[in-house]
Amino acid sequence: MKIPSLRARLTIWYSLTLAAILLVFNVLFYHALNIVVDRSLTQELRQRFTILNNHVQIRSGVLQIVTNPANRDENYLVQLASRYLQIYRLPEGDLILQSRDLELIGARLTPVQVRQIAKTGEFNDVQIGRERFRFHNAIYPSDEGHTFLVRIGIPLIPAENARAGFLYALFLLSPLGVILAGLMGWNMAGRALHPIKGVAIAARNIDIDQLEQRLPLSGAGDEVDDLVRSFNETLSRLENSVAQMKQFTASISHELRTPLTVLRGESEVALLEKYSVDDYRQLLSSQLEEFEKLSSMVNDLLLLANAEAGDIVLAQRDVDLSELVLSLAEQLEPVANSHGVEIQTDIPANIHICGDASWLERAVLNLIDNAIKFTPHGHISLSLRQDTKQTLLRIEDTGIGISQEALPHIFDRFYRAEQSRSKGTPGVGLGLALVRWIIEKHSGRITVESEPARGTRFTMILPSTSANSTNQGLSKHSRLP
Ligand code: ADP
Repeated sequence: MKIPSLRARLTIWYSLTLAAILLVFNVLFYHALNIVVDRSLTQELRQRFTILNNHVQIRSGVLQIVTNPANRDENYLVQLASRYLQIYRLPEGDLILQSRDLELIGARLTPVQVRQIAKTGEFNDVQIGRERFRFHNAIYPSDEGHTFLVRIGIPLIPAENARAGFLYALFLLSPLGVILAGLMGWNMAGRALHPIKGVAIAARNIDIDQLEQRLPLSGAGDEVDDLVRSFNETLSRLENSVAQMKQFTASISHELRTPLTVLRGESEVALLEKYSVDDYRQLLSSQLEEFEKLSSMVNDLLLLANAEAGDIVLAQRDVDLSELVLSLAEQLEPVANSHGVEIQTDIPANIHICGDASWLERAVLNLIDNAIKFTPHGHISLSLRQDTKQTLLRIEDTGIGISQEALPHIFDRFYRAEQSRSKGTPGVGLGLALVRWIIEKHSGRITVESEPARGTRFTMILPSTSANSTNQGLSKHSRLP
């Protein structure tokens, strides 16, 4: 079955709810009205009886209704009260007096009925022909041992007609009200959903190559604006991811093309020329270097993919950070020197932290490697400090520095500053993303300060914690930035 539109569903829900509320209210209202009408009828009957009662006299066994002819108001009220009047003698049940109106409709009771009513009570409702009455019954003892049953009535039909008319109007008008409210609901739902329709149309028109587009905010600060804001944020994230992917494809093809072209050229020349065994050896050893570079790049990519998938769990062991940094500085010194760069160290002995030595080594190596790569001449200084809370490792160089525009992005995947790309410095922009991931996995953080043409300082801030307290930080799977 086809699900109706949101607008139709809202209207249906609204109308049904209103119909249910109206039904409940109508029933309650009608019930309340019944009670009120019934009470007021009884009240009226009681008042008429009180008026009549003041004019009843029993003398020598005869019951009379005595009025003062001069008092017109009083006469009128007594007339009104005695319009439906019956007087019976008890216990015989003989009719002594009956008003003309009751006589006309044949309201006379049998003696049995009279005795029955004398026992039952003050009020009773009776159907007489097509009329219905409520009677007030009172017993008067006579001075001669008789008793009288005096009944005055009030017709119920006018009140019942009014009630029926009211009920009819209520149940005729309510569906009309529901239909009207439904039409208004349909209109209001249409208005409320109109901006969402606009968002849907605008969103449908945004293609993968137009991700820089944003949907306009109405400025009302309502739910639709919230939706648009969330959608725009999703677009921003998508735009960033697509830009990163594009940059990655460009970087990776550039990084692969250069060594592959060189390798291919060298092989073609070697095939054409007649080389000596020594020449072949030399060629193969230079090609081996290129192969090593290529495989290290592929390894980085694989590592990144695994880290992204959350497949890597780091060890939590005691690591002698002083020894780790000093040994790396020692290993990299010849490379640095060959670039005209001197490595200075300020590393106190025996600074320990808890973590994964091989991953920490990879992070420090990446930072020192970058410092060497981006420092044409100058020096690199490594310093390590620890207090009870934090362990700080600074890697500072006097290299080309990083521009203010590039600084916020250097930890993004595949990001390379314009300077490093144009100068043909090797790399694909994965190193710092990996460094940050490693440090965050150790519950730490990394900061960078830099000034173009003066140098760059990276600071690794790691917690100075024992092996047990870092368990949580290391076991969490975090995503690469
Ligand atoms: P890669 O080194 O492969 O280019 P990284 O992620 O390690 O990628 O670094 C990203 C970018 O940050 C580099 O391309 C470079 O522009 C900049 N960068 C990193 N370290 C330094 C540094 N010590 N000095 C100057 N620029 C740096």
